[in-house]
Amino acid sequence: MDDANYMRRAITLASRTSPDILGMKVGALVVRDGEIVGEGSREFASRVYGHHDTPKPVAEPVLHAERVALYRAGGLARGSMLYVTLEPCIGIDSDSTMTHCTQLIAESGIVRVAVGMLDPNPRIQGRGLELLGRLGVEAYLVEGFDDMIQPLINVDPRREWRLAQKDWRRPLTSSGKSARAEAAALRKMRDAILSAEMMDEIEGDYHA
Ligand SMILES: [Zn+2]
Repeated sequence: MDDANYMRRAITLASRTSPDILGMKVGALVVRDGEIVGEGSREFASRVYGHHDTPKPVAEPVLHAERVALYRAGGLARGSMLYVTLEPCIGIDSDSTMTHCTQLIAESGIVRVAVGMLDPNPRIQGRGLELLGRLGVEAYLVEGFDDMIQPLINVDPRREWRLAQKDWRRPLTSSGKSARAEAAALRKMRDAILSAEMMDEIEGDYHA
């Protein structure tokens, strides 16, 4: 298989991201001597690592696709190649407290990375590839897949809102350490948070 075939596989993985995972759909796979030795999409940590001791619903970290694929490849990642639909993160604007993917890829011993699309954020765009290069990992863009990947990373706010209503039943405005921690985690992931109380306030202001 060539780059295009592996990238198509990564896109298939991305499109199969579980519907209860909020945000963009990203897929990744590790290839060693022409064979796929690990693959994945963005996923809840417990579904990857197989334990369920993290409190649901929002406190549980969502692993980036690269991390899932590298975990599944294990030691076989060393000397291998990684395909990922979206440029790996570099720790800016990331919702994760874990090592960013660029660092993780280098530490895993991956020698080459092919990405399907650069990060759409102009502050980050291209910097993931640059950083990989500086870390000694060859990295390049596979052209021609933007049209297929774009819809997977364009998050529909209506869908997000519906999922949020479904999954996050606990009020965010209640006092207490866990509620505050939860709200802080949400704020890191999103540009804005609307709560029922805020909606009332906004409506009240509007009609005043
Ligand atoms: Zn990442």
